[in-house]
Amino acid sequence: MGIEGDEIADYLHRLFPLCRSITGEPNRQTLRILQEIIPLFIKEIASGTPVLDWCIPDEWSLREAYISDDSGKRIVDFDQNNLHVVSYSVPVDGWFRWEELDKHLHFHELPNAIPYRTSYYKRDWGFCVTQEQYAELRNNSKMHRVVINSEFTKGSLSYGEHIIRGRSSREILLSCYICHPSMANDSLSGVLITALLARYLNSKPITNWSYRFVFVPETIGAIAYLSQHQEIMQEIDIGFVITTCGGEGQFGVKKSFNDHHWINDFVISTVERYCGSDIKVFPFDIHGSDERQYSTQGFGINCTTITKDKYYDYDEYHTSLDNLDLVKPHSLFETFKVYKEVIDNLESLEIFEKTNIYGESMLRKHGLHNDLGGSYLPGGEQISDLVLKVLFWTDGKTPVSYVASKVGLDLANCENIYKLLAEKNLVRKI
Ligand code: ZN
Repeated sequence: MGIEGDEIADYLHRLFPLCRSITGEPNRQTLRILQEIIPLFIKEIASGTPVLDWCIPDEWSLREAYISDDSGKRIVDFDQNNLHVVSYSVPVDGWFRWEELDKHLHFHELPNAIPYRTSYYKRDWGFCVTQEQYAELRNNSKMHRVVINSEFTKGSLSYGEHIIRGRSSREILLSCYICHPSMANDSLSGVLITALLARYLNSKPITNWSYRFVFVPETIGAIAYLSQHQEIMQEIDIGFVITTCGGEGQFGVKKSFNDHHWINDFVISTVERYCGSDIKVFPFDIHGSDERQYSTQGFGINCTTITKDKYYDYDEYHTSLDNLDLVKPHSLFETFKVYKEVIDNLESLEIFEKTNIYGESMLRKHGLHNDLGGSYLPGGEQISDLVLKVLFWTDGKTPVSYVASKVGLDLANCENIYKLLAEKNLVRKI
């Protein structure tokens, strides 16, 4: 393992134990650790701020939580695992009969797993336990003491942002979520990959694209970010939601909402070339991560996700077994190299935009037309037809190679047409 693997191991070990949620000090600690990798701006949005159809909730903090039996023995203790307490649990201090306590307990089908549960928007409380702890609680005493020393305050939601200005003002979005406590593949793998990619691009003298890196709590954070950067986000066409990419499983790509968008084929073929084999391809599904916010009609960002052990698809998903035994530094470094390959390929793409987007350009005026009108026959394509087709699909967003395949040209001929169009000042390179 090279220095990169050692570095990844170090950050995994420091970031994993923090009890992150959608708000709170551990999120700020997480962002501050990431500032060692990139000069991240940490921003705050106050509780109560309306964001699109939502509202920033109160900040939640948790000092202590446990369930003990009538002899004082602690059977479940938050000190042992962050996942033991349902995130955003309200304060509790009292004695409970089994029937009442049972309504607040959650366990998983995997015997040794502690499930991950949240109650962000319904004031409630709960504990997540192993099957063994559940059996012990049920059997060992009639009354149990429950303590949750939590607090809700008018605080803020924290997020991180890093922007790289390239030759083109066209931006690519790279987003990850910082709200999961102590899970390695879901959330943390994506957070670390996103930070390392930002550092990689930062190290270049200049990039062709501009890049917007966003570290937000899932859902509410993405909605808040969209709300506060509405016009900028409406301009973005493609993005990556980076998550669940640290397992040992097969590489996969989740496609964007527009199945026909070139980015899907581009990312899939790049990852396949890198792996030298077929990969798993997942269709777009609104059950996912923040692509469901970025892809809403008001924004329409085509987000793909490169995964290894995608959310929902691995047994340890949303449990305490999604830990540092599951995510190995060398595996995460492999994912970094795949994402880097995708970014490098994006950097080398050629994209043109039209100088006139209102109606067809008059080809005769630009010396590009055959003089005899009405002579078109199917199959008898002439240079002017190809020019019109290329111009039609030139939208400032689609790379030359994808315009070529749309109009049925090989790349070299398509490039020649672009050269001609650029000489006539009908297109310009982005
Ligand atoms: Zn999750």
